[in-house]
Amino acid sequence: MKAISVLGSTGSIGTQTLEIVQEFPEQFRVVALTAGRNLGLLVEQIQRHSPEVVALADESLLKELEERLASLPADQKPQRQPELVGGPGGLNIAASWDTADLVVTGIVGCAGLLPTLAAIQAGKDLALANKETLIAAGPVVLPELRKSGSRLLPADSEHSAIFQCLQGTPWADNARLSTGVPTPGLRRIQLTASGGAFRDWATADLEKATVADATSHPNWSMGRKITVDSASLMNKGLEVIEAHYLFGLDYDHIEIVIHPQSIIHSMIELADSSVLAQLGWPDMKLPILYCMSWPSRLETPWRRLNLTEVGQLTFNKPDPAKYPCMELAYAAGRAGGTMPAVLNAANEEAVAQFLEERIHFLDIPDLIETACERHKSDRVDQPQLDDVLAVDQWARTAVREQVDRGTRRLPLTAMAA
Ligand code: NAD
Ligand code: MG
Repeated sequence: MKAISVLGSTGSIGTQTLEIVQEFPEQFRVVALTAGRNLGLLVEQIQRHSPEVVALADESLLKELEERLASLPADQKPQRQPELVGGPGGLNIAASWDTADLVVTGIVGCAGLLPTLAAIQAGKDLALANKETLIAAGPVVLPELRKSGSRLLPADSEHSAIFQCLQGTPWADNARLSTGVPTPGLRRIQLTASGGAFRDWATADLEKATVADATSHPNWSMGRKITVDSASLMNKGLEVIEAHYLFGLDYDHIEIVIHPQSIIHSMIELADSSVLAQLGWPDMKLPILYCMSWPSRLETPWRRLNLTEVGQLTFNKPDPAKYPCMELAYAAGRAGGTMPAVLNAANEEAVAQFLEERIHFLDIPDLIETACERHKSDRVDQPQLDDVLAVDQWARTAVREQVDRGTRRLPLTAMAA
């Protein structure tokens, strides 16, 4: 039985991971949970899974969690009283918990960086959903992986697709997994993108985009931040950088293709020009399960793909004028060093400001571009962890200050639309 730690257990990735554990009680058990602030759901998860340790990012809620668990009627108490820890230190304790075999990283944003590093340094294998960590700190994370021997299994659906396709090649060398070393024979990656909430909008209409518009995804149900990233195509831009670090390919050989049906989850082209793809209904449980069961596959009763039901698979090129975030991500990836960390932090802050209706959707790329421009002269080529943390903070502050001074456009509320 594999022991699983779930970081960000109350989020979209976290809850889907726990659903898998419930579906396969013979295969998996939960030893650690971490969450931000959602105590109600966390208590339910503790009751159901009886983890050995629980960490709360917000330390001030620890007492309340303790009281809620203590006040449960005897017949509803978890089988064991978990050790409760809080704050950044607590997250690291849970992430490196001794009995865990695999750590699923479902924290959103660069907040996942330190717990991810703690898990790697403890030699744990990881199911990486929290892509922001790798994007911000690839040059720090990859050497740590090489040192500890931890394996980074991609839970992001596109990277899982690539990983699954690579299993069918002569170079499915497990030791090479996610060390940033180029995969021999891999010529090109094509990342598929649904096109997000604004896929069918004319570029000019983006002037009218509200928070409600940007947070309704046509194909996937996910957390709010990644849903906005999908609408701006920043998610795909971030995934280009993620693919670069995971599979070692240079940016000229990682492409984005819009595929509205989200049936092909990504493709690889090999040295002999053969193209391999992985297909399925859009359901994040599949890539998460593959990380958990790899290298085996488990039998599931999940919806099976029927291509005649889909009818058509279509593809088109993303329009850089409509999706400036995509180009910003390529540029930051190519610049390397600390630039992707600035791109990521500026994006996290800009999306947070957008979700609070303090800025317009179209301000997001402007704010990111300004932060990346300003960082050019300070970019560190071979960053250490402290460099990454420093530029992450700098970029967030730079974006906030710019928003406080005022952006070019007025924010649009759902009411005004
Ligand atoms: P979410 O917002 O639904 O959940 C985030 C989780 O992280 C919650 O448990 C929350 O409590 C916790 N959290 C938030 N801020 C935190 C902080 N500062 N410190 C510690 N914990 C904190 O997000 P999600 O959609 O599940 O996405 C999680 C990660 O997975 C993101 O990096 C996202 O890009 C990636 N991802 C998600 C999907 C998806 O389908 N949801 C798909 C691919 C990749
Ligand atoms: Mg993805």
